Amino acid sequence: MRRPILAANWKMNKTIAEAIDFVRAIRRGLNEIESVDRVLCPPYTALAALKDLLLPTGILLGAQNMHWEEKGLPSSAAKGAYTGEVSPRMLKELCQVVVLGHSERRTYFGETDEKVNRKVKAALAYGLLPIVCVGETEAQYDAGQTGTVVGGQVRECLAGLSADQVAGLVIAYEPVWAIGTGKAATPGGAGAVIGLTIRGTIAEMFNEATAQAVRVQYGGSATAANIAEFMAHPDIDGALVGGASLKPDFVDLVRNAAQAKGALNDR
Ligand code: PEP
Repeated sequence: MRRPILAANWKMNKTIAEAIDFVRAIRRGLNEIESVDRVLCPPYTALAALKDLLLPTGILLGAQNMHWEEKGLPSSAAKGAYTGEVSPRMLKELCQVVVLGHSERRTYFGETDEKVNRKVKAALAYGLLPIVCVGETEAQYDAGQTGTVVGGQVRECLAGLSADQVAGLVIAYEPVWAIGTGKAATPGGAGAVIGLTIRGTIAEMFNEATAQAVRVQYGGSATAANIAEFMAHPDIDGALVGGASLKPDFVDLVRNAAQAKGALNDR
């Protein structure tokens, strides 16, 4: 049985003060929904403040990105000193989870599968839980390339890992055309990509047990109103939520997700 996981990606939103106010408002409600993992991923700047606020709860804290090196080297060195970057060693002091390879990082900041692969390995080495994002663009979807694109991303992002490492991480299937557009995928469509392409590729790379153990989220315009349909799909283990995680009804979204999965498991 895979434990559902709902994660909030706040993107570049909320100051420290706003993050504290918001978490004070949702913390109690979110903490009560114990049958699923709940993760808040604020900007780096709010991590330290939220760490203290979440300490007495079961809610996990995550970062939205990370560098793969543990620290900057002298700037004359070939590898660089990495001004502006944050390392897994730094994050380890603050949080338990890290989102890697989000499509906005791929689109605007040159993130490649090869870089995501390095980051996944570094996160695991530091005991951070990676949420590895994959997903096709609208043009790729229209061209019927979803399976090839997503399968390739899975292969490259997970290359060189052990079956045990893969079984313990989280993948987020986020069709780029569904992110922030209000145009969510259909649960059947997303479930098919997750079941056939993502779990199928992992079964080929590792084995069937690993493919069945890894948790895979859906991401893309998930809301409190539509989350139950996604959770009802047996291959979908939760969601990575952007816009709808910035408002207090994120608690309703998580509650609806937990109830939908509970109802499914009771059948
Ligand atoms: C995301 O940022 O990963 C995301 C899925 O955003 P949204 O829920 O706003 O589509």
